[in-house]
Amino acid sequence: MLKASTRTNVMTTKTRIEWTEVTWNPVTGCTKLSQGCKHCYAERMAHRLKAMRNPRYPNGFEITLHEDLIDAPRRWKKPTRVFVNSMSDLFHEAIPPDFVERLFHTMAECPQHQFQILTKRGKRLRELAPSLPWPKNLWMGVSVEHADVVGRIDDLRTVPAAVRFLSCEPLLGPLAPLRLEGIHWIIVGGESGSGARKMEPQWVYKLRDQCLAADVPFFFKQWGGVRKDLSGRELDGRTYDALPNVAGRC
Ligand code: SF4
Repeated sequence: MLKASTRTNVMTTKTRIEWTEVTWNPVTGCTKLSQGCKHCYAERMAHRLKAMRNPRYPNGFEITLHEDLIDAPRRWKKPTRVFVNSMSDLFHEAIPPDFVERLFHTMAECPQHQFQILTKRGKRLRELAPSLPWPKNLWMGVSVEHADVVGRIDDLRTVPAAVRFLSCEPLLGPLAPLRLEGIHWIIVGGESGSGARKMEPQWVYKLRDQCLAADVPFFFKQWGGVRKDLSGRELDGRTYDALPNVAGRC
């Protein structure tokens, strides 16, 4: 059953995710869908926060709507890059369309911020997209962790977002060559933490080379592994931190 929360604390959280600044979680909780979900960080965190009696997580990892957070970005003065729903998937089937619409309207009315949304539910994204506003400060991405789910890229291509991006993390198999038409940014990373699945270097090199050849900004997040701080984030002796070129987009 869908749960609602009425708490008023915890509006944003500073994050260690390399390509964003803060997280905004007006929905928490999810259910697993594909291979990339196996070691879901959000699930582990939600259970931990529930055990710590965090008031946002009485339902653990069940989908919970936080009505009081819908308008939170309107109160943040400093322009910020915001990752939306790091603790859920905004296009989960259990989240009502009108709730998603209200969040999109908040984003459209906060042009001082850049919002980044990432989903594994490409079909629902494609279905809801025509009824949503697509302001230029909204970046929309799909997770593509394995060749089995590349169909999500076709779903994403139908969406009129100013920036469409792919998160190939945790990369679990070879993907290149990908069809990159209409894609403005690619993030690649390996899995980290206990039980991390290995990412082969040639999977990363091939994606990087394809991005360089096609002039698609490439961001290499990490090699991953049990201790990601030891494996680092250099590729051929350098880091790749490119962001999408947002100037001049519709
Ligand atoms: S879709 Fe994302 S949040 Fe949901 S279970 Fe999978 S990895 Fe976790």
